[in-house]
Amino acid sequence: MELWLIKIAVPVLFVLLSFILYDAVFRNRKEKTTKTNDKEMCIIPRCGRETGYRKDTPVNKRNHYVRGAGQLCDKCGNEFLLDEYRKRKNALESAFG
Ligand SMILES: [Zn+2]
Repeated sequence: MELWLIKIAVPVLFVLLSFILYDAVFRNRKEKTTKTNDKEMCIIPRCGRETGYRKDTPVNKRNHYVRGAGQLCDKCGNEFLLDEYRKRKNALESAFG
């Protein structure tokens, strides 16, 4: 009686355990790849850090997105805006003042 139970229970447990392990490993690997591949990277070559935006984020819900170029990270985006501001300020000042 007991031997019969062990003969059934051990393979069943083994199969269940291997299913659980396989599922955990597979799910973990899938999450890892989607996490790294779906993040948009900064387009500035000397920067190249993660922007924090996923690739499927709509363009109108992002900051520092440049049409035709791509996504800037917060740091480069702020630098870019400051640059643009200075350029326009200088142009206005040289035109009127
Ligand atoms: Zn950047």
